[in-house]
Amino acid sequence: MARTRDTTWTVVSYHVGRFDPQLPRLDPQHVCFRLRVAPSPIHRYGVFAEEPIPRGRKVIEYTGERISRAETRKRYARPMHYLFTLDDYWTIDGSVGGSGAEYINHSCDPNLRAWIHKGHILYMSRRVIEPGEELTVDYKFNRSPLRDVCSCGSPKCRGSINVL
Ligand SMILES: [Zn+2]
Repeated sequence: MARTRDTTWTVVSYHVGRFDPQLPRLDPQHVCFRLRVAPSPIHRYGVFAEEPIPRGRKVIEYTGERISRAETRKRYARPMHYLFTLDDYWTIDGSVGGSGAEYINHSCDPNLRAWIHKGHILYMSRRVIEPGEELTVDYKFNRSPLRDVCSCGSPKCRGSINVL
């Protein structure tokens, strides 16, 4: 039985840089509900529910290329990257073969949580999600003196995408 790693995993992904000329797309193979990508009030593009999503359901899988630590360090230096730490060694790069889950924005009070199960990253609903709501997950960036300022707008916002 896999356990949830909601409190222990760390996302190192962060996207900065220029606006994509094309609207990002979702891969229907990895999406379990009707979702769409649209401009987000939080950051660039976001992913939104188009139908009600019950609590505790798999919503989308975060997919991408599986890369090593050394490769992760290289790609982390790029101006735009979507890197998700899977475990102590592997990272998933959502910019290569990503399902679209890499466009899900950070919130300090998210409606999704990441569940790492048999090498897969599954985004599960933490509560009922209404149609039109933006999907969010807590990126939990590493503690760092150089904090990434958060603009999630949640009343529970800790002011930083990094864990404090
Ligand atoms: Zn916040």
